[in-house]
Amino acid sequence: MDLPEIRQNDFQRQWDAVRAGVIRAIERVGASGCYILGDEVQAFEAAFAEFCGAPHSIGVANGMDAIEIGLRGLGLRKGTKVLTTPFSAFASTLAIIRAGGVPVFVDVDEFGALDLRQCRAVFEQDRSIRFFLPVHLFGFPMSLPVLARLRDEFSLSIVEDSAQAIGAADHGIAVGSIGHVAAMSFYPTKNLGAFGDAGALWTNDAEIARRARALRNYGQSSRYAHEELGLNSRLDELHAAILRDALLPHLETWLQARATNAQKYLAEIANPSIRLIRPRLGATAVWHLFPVLVAPQHRDAFRKHLAQSQIETAVHYPRLIPEQKALSGVAGVQMLTELVHARRFADGEVSLPIHPFLTEDELNKVVDVCNAWRP
Ligand SMILES: *Cc1c(COP(=O)(O)O)cnc(C)c1O
Repeated sequence: MDLPEIRQNDFQRQWDAVRAGVIRAIERVGASGCYILGDEVQAFEAAFAEFCGAPHSIGVANGMDAIEIGLRGLGLRKGTKVLTTPFSAFASTLAIIRAGGVPVFVDVDEFGALDLRQCRAVFEQDRSIRFFLPVHLFGFPMSLPVLARLRDEFSLSIVEDSAQAIGAADHGIAVGSIGHVAAMSFYPTKNLGAFGDAGALWTNDAEIARRARALRNYGQSSRYAHEELGLNSRLDELHAAILRDALLPHLETWLQARATNAQKYLAEIANPSIRLIRPRLGATAVWHLFPVLVAPQHRDAFRKHLAQSQIETAVHYPRLIPEQKALSGVAGVQMLTELVHARRFADGEVSLPIHPFLTEDELNKVVDVCNAWRP
């Protein structure tokens, strides 16, 4: 494969950094003879719960399942509306539908995340909407004090989709701790990326934790006792061992490197044709992505300009979720506001490389090539 020099993700460099720990974890799991729901999953759940500052963490097969299990754990019933964002990974909405819910959409704000003021207006208008799936997009935390007020005023049941925001905080509050459930993904490109699919949810609520543990394992409350129809969404021992032993210990350093890279871009990219997005005051972003906005008619040219200098870019996300073909036959799907900002992002967003293994020379090159661009 002929890869560009400066990539969105550099898995080769990551492998060099974690190889010894991964091999050790594989040896240990292989020798243990236990591959499903054993000590390794428990040990990872404990370590991850400590990292998140939550009492309960439940390992599952992927981030999408974490959302579905979270919504079901909160008692979502068939046909119930769930307010969510039109601008995210498709998995956010797909999880709602798989859980039996009906997604309804509100526009995003200037950071690409749900506009909480418009959400408030919707909650005031339609008292039948009590489930909420906000997404902390790009690694930017949404305003958590505002989210907490909405939760309390409207008695909302909230799952925070924190797949892109592990470790982020706002006004000293950890992302994921305002919702009843936080859903995390360890998809390889995520800030804590496994060697395959994996995910987790965490919660302060012991009863939700108990149900989630049953749901991930066919709905079994105890061996061969099936209380409800669950999923097969178990986290493998192997992934759990690798995550705890070889990856989690690096997470703080990696998040710090992403933040340092972002600070450099924010300080040094200065081009009136490239709009940078600065997190709100009080927000600790974890920079899963580094999104910039350019004029829609110039986006392809901008990406080409970077590609000519061996810089790989991406677009998150080119199409709004409610406009995806797969949703056309789903009953009840509604856009509750105009999607003005969401469309601006979908048409003009470009993600610059921000991964933690970028060198100073590479960062300088990205800055110079951005600054030299003329649409
Ligand atoms: C990655 C992602 C998911 C889904 O996670 P998977 O592990 O791929 O299932 C859900 N929501 C958001 C915002 C994501 O970025």
